[in-house]
Amino acid sequence: MTVRQRAELEEIPAYTQGAIPEGADIHKLSSNENPYGPLSSVREAIAAQLTGINRYPDMGAHALTQRLAEVHGVSPEQIVFGAGSVEAAFQLAHASAGAGDEILFAWRSFEAYPIIARVVGATPVAVPLTADERHDLDAMADAITPRTRLVFLCTPNNPTGTVLGRDEAEAFLARVPGDVLVVIDEAYVHFQRDEGAVSGIEMFRRHPNVAVLHTFSKAYGLAGLRIGYAIAPAEVAANLRKVAVPFGVTSLAQSAALASLDAEDELARRIGEITAERERVAGQLREQGWAVPPTQANFVWLRAGERSAQIASGLAERGVLVRAFPGEGLRISIGSAEANDAALSALRAIGAES
Ligand SMILES: *Cc1c(COP(=O)(O)O)cnc(C)c1O
Repeated sequence: MTVRQRAELEEIPAYTQGAIPEGADIHKLSSNENPYGPLSSVREAIAAQLTGINRYPDMGAHALTQRLAEVHGVSPEQIVFGAGSVEAAFQLAHASAGAGDEILFAWRSFEAYPIIARVVGATPVAVPLTADERHDLDAMADAITPRTRLVFLCTPNNPTGTVLGRDEAEAFLARVPGDVLVVIDEAYVHFQRDEGAVSGIEMFRRHPNVAVLHTFSKAYGLAGLRIGYAIAPAEVAANLRKVAVPFGVTSLAQSAALASLDAEDELARRIGEITAERERVAGQLREQGWAVPPTQANFVWLRAGERSAQIASGLAERGVLVRAFPGEGLRISIGSAEANDAALSALRAIGAES
């Protein structure tokens, strides 16, 4: 006899981590990580916390909550932390949906969404992107049923880099029933330079059924420490605290996040370097003949279709690790100028057409 487990877990694909490099001259452009190491002030803040790690962390992350409430102009009870914003996304799903409910999202988008839906027992409903790699908001609104409890919108979208416009997001919200939670996942918002793009926080202020996800993993370079947060209506936020993993956000992560907020200028310079590199890489790839959709994130998307897996292995042979979605495309993170150059010359060698 075998141990009885939840049958629906058999349908969950394992989360795929970007390739782990072996060897010093391998460029890892597969996980949208920040190429810069920690700022010295952040390093010092983490080191200062080490003497206290025999104690549990502050479960309410009070200092950080207060600080972010000021930054965003929201109230502290509307902010809930997670071990990365992916944990906050799990909290939102746990609090909103269960067996028989539907969780709606665009596809392809963040690969955690269908996994999260299945884990909480809900049914994932994936609505294909438009031909120009954007959320198809009309089709998504059409896909809402009485069972829909939560909608994820990802802007800029992982893995295509496209953003939602302010007006189209408003038009979508107007079509969503007020008792359905719309979660705007802004993991890459700091890299966004498009004036017409929607702002999750503004939407949160205007609509009582909107929540926002932010992370310290990408622009702030703290992926290894695991800290992100949801901004949600107070009654939703109270439920997120109930379903959160107790003490899931470490004291080291809280201190590093606070120190990062004290170093916004230094971080903004780094983010500026990354967005400049993004434009350089996208421009050169277009010159090479690749179709690159406009990206507002720290990665570019190549819809290479059936060639995707083969191109990814050609890149790996040349020391460049990217994220392949076989049959669909490749996502290439923006790294150091050296890593980006390696990716550009490898892609030139492989060729945009064959
Ligand atoms: C990377 C990413 C996240 C979250 O990352 P965490 O490290 O868990 O904070 C969330 N959403 C999207 C779309 C991402 O790409």
